[in-house]
Formats: sequence, C-alpha cells, structure tokens
Amino acid sequence: MALIVQKYGGTSVGTVERIEAVAEKVKGFRERGDDVVVVVSAMSGETNRLIGLAQEIQSPPTAREMDVLVSTGEQVTIALLCMALNKRGCPARSYTGSQVRILTDDAHTKARIRDIDDENIRRDLKAGRVVVVAGFQGVDEEGNITTLGRGGSDTTGVALAAALKADECQIYTDVDGVYTTDPRVVDSARRMDRITFEEMLEMASLGSKVLQIRAVEFAGKYKVPLRVLHSFQDGPGTLITIEDDSAVERPVISGIAFNRDEAKLTVLGVPDIPGVASRILGPVSEANVEVDMIVQNIGDDQTTDFTFTVHRNDYEKASEILQRVSAELGAKEVVGNNKIAKVSIVGVGMRSHAGVASKMFTALADDSINIQLISTSEIKISVIIAEKYLELAVRGLHSAFELDQADVVSEA
Ligand code: ADP
Ligand code: ASP
Ligand code: MG
Repeated sequence: MALIVQKYGGTSVGTVERIEAVAEKVKGFRERGDDVVVVVSAMSGETNRLIGLAQEIQSPPTAREMDVLVSTGEQVTIALLCMALNKRGCPARSYTGSQVRILTDDAHTKARIRDIDDENIRRDLKAGRVVVVAGFQGVDEEGNITTLGRGGSDTTGVALAAALKADECQIYTDVDGVYTTDPRVVDSARRMDRITFEEMLEMASLGSKVLQIRAVEFAGKYKVPLRVLHSFQDGPGTLITIEDDSAVERPVISGIAFNRDEAKLTVLGVPDIPGVASRILGPVSEANVEVDMIVQNIGDDQTTDFTFTVHRNDYEKASEILQRVSAELGAKEVVGNNKIAKVSIVGVGMRSHAGVASKMFTALADDSINIQLISTSEIKISVIIAEKYLELAVRGLHSAFELDQADVVSEA
C-alpha cells in the first residue's frame, strides 16, 4: 500500500464530466489499497476569468483582495470532486489551504510555503478517506488567504508530498509527460522517460510551464519522487530524477524551452564610470520589476550601452524609470523592444561537450535568425531573438540537436 499525492490541473477538472472521470480514477487507486491525497486546480479558464473581473474594477488590484478572489476557483473544484467521490461510495473530504493549514509568508499573489500541518490529513487518511486539497493557496500567520503564483497547484502537490513523505507525487495534466519541447509547438517533440531535477528546473525557469519552478525546487530539495502523467491516458509519464550516473551516454541537449513574455531595454551612451549599473538597476528593482538578462557592452569613448530584459508586462513601467534615470546620468537615449522572445537549450551533457554554442548559433544562422542577446550557464544557453521567429527557431534547434530522433533516455 502506497501513499500517493495526485495533482490534477485545470483542464483535467475543466468540466463536470472530467471531474467525474477524475473521481473514477481516484477510486481505482483506493480500490488497489493506496492512500490518496488529491490536489486540484480551478476549472480551466476560471483563474483568468477572476483576474479579468478584478482588473475591470481596479488596476492593479489590491493584492490581499486578489488572493481572496482567485483562491475561490480551487474551492469550487475541491467540493465538486468530493461530491463525485462520495457519490461513488468513496469517502472524501475537502480542505482549503487554510483549513489544512498550509502556512505561507505574507507575499500576496506569490507567497512561499513555510510549513504544513499534516494532522487533519493523516487523521482522515487513517479513517479511510480521500483527502482533497485546494491547490495554489495558503494562509499567512495573521490568517490572511495567500496564493502561490500562477501554476502554484503543482507546488501545493509537491509540498504536501514532502510533508507527508508520500511514495510519489503525480502531476496529472493534458500531456502525457515532459517533452523535449512544448509538443504544441513542435509536432516531433518526444516524451522523455526521465529528466533530472536540475534540467527540469532550468526548463521550468526558462518558460516550460508544464511544471511550476517552485514545485521542481521543492521536489529536488526534499527528494520527492515526482512524475508527470496524462490525466486520462495510461502511460509511464516522465519521472523527474536525481542525476543517473549509470547512463552510458547522455544526450548533450535534453530539451528546448522558450518564453514569449520578454521585453528588452537599452540605455545608450551611458558614462562608463563606477556605479552606473547600480544607478540604472536600483530604481528598477525598487519598483519591483524583475530583471532577467543583463549585458553591458565595452565602451570606446568613455560611454557604454547597457541592456537588460524584463517581463513584457513590466516594459512600460521599466521604460518610464529608465527615461528618468537616463536624464540623471546624462546618457544619450533609451531604446526598447517588446516583441522579442527567449529560446534556450538545456542539458547536463553540455558540461562535458564542446561546440554546443556554435552548433546552436549555426542552426539559427541557417534559418537567417538574428541573435540579439546571449546568456549562458553551465547547463543552458539562452538567446533573445525577434518574437516572429520563435517557432522557426525552436523547430530548427530541435532538429539540429536531433531531439526528434535520439532516444533521450533509453541509455539510462
Ligand atoms: P495544468 O493546467 O494541468 O497545470 P499546464 O497548462 O500548466 O497544465 O501545463 C501543461 C502544458 O505545458 C501542456 O499543455 C504543454 O503545452 C505545455 N508545455 C510546455 N513545455 C512543455 C514540455 N517541455 N513538455 C510538456 N508540456 C509542455
Ligand atoms: N489556478 C491557478 C492558475 O491558473 C493555479 C494552478 O492551476 O496551478 O494559475
Ligand atoms: Mg500548470
């Protein structure tokens, strides 16, 4: 008998019929003798709908009230799923984040989990019940409802699995595992049997929304066996694992991630003197704008150009700040572009292989795609390109690195 935490995403509980199908599936696990804790998202589209309502009234909406609002989506699905289970003679009880007591910090709309009280859940499991927990939400020390950021139900699932020391955390979604790249963009993308936590973390942080970054971080930190599976099709899915040294030969590149939500800003003709970078980025970070890539060029005539990228939603805000800073610094001008995208290749095999970057740049050149910015780490290379070339770039790289052919994991 195993203890399993299962998380079902928005499309998997998007209609009453699907909620009934999830109940049927959970019942099957109970009949095999497993203890099951289920985490559910809101019905697909519901969180966006609620955010839209808020924006019609106040922009930006008060963060505390935003959390009270968006957390309602998950409260609907926990109750409906429990009804569907109870109807099937499978006793079940629903819990909101605060009823479990998923304690978080007070950073509304992007709270972090601090502690989970497992008492209620263990008591119900012992009594033979399925426990159904609302994903994406928690409560702070003061009793305020908090939420964990978009896609946060994944993190609720993994955090509960860690707290309960579950045998596995299963993330059920609308694809049958983690693919070499988003299968909705590249038809020949392949499901991986396994991927390392390290690679999955890079993929998630570079734009692959199949798992929320914090969920992967949590699973790596607490060694939670994590698997991504299709909600309604049988199959092995993808196991997120610690690195497997027994691999005879690792592929150099495991996957390609991309992100359209990017914008680029450059301050031209900045005096090349100490303290300039902090004078430019200080006000940007004070305005709560997160900066991603940063590039400072070598200056030739005592001035330099300073470029960085931000989330596209923060483009206007960052531009306004830079206009002011640029005038204060006596820089030449501020230019920007919010029609860019980031494409990244990811793979632990990169550590032991030379020539990966040049192969990437050649593949992009073959498709006449101009590279605007480059950044690298030990296991990834990212480039900024014009957004209109994004799909072409991802497809070209996918075939240049033979991701559609190589059996990425069979050698493991
Ligand atoms: P859920 O609502 O179940 O949480 P998400 O929409 O958050 O589902 O995540 C699943 C989606 O992630 C898939 O439909 C797919 O389009 C997208 N995706 C992006 N990159 C990948 C990838 N490398 N492998 C699989 N799916 C990916
Ligand atoms: N419902 C939330 C969202 O849409 C959380 C989740 O689905 O994981 O982001
Ligand atoms: Mg998701």
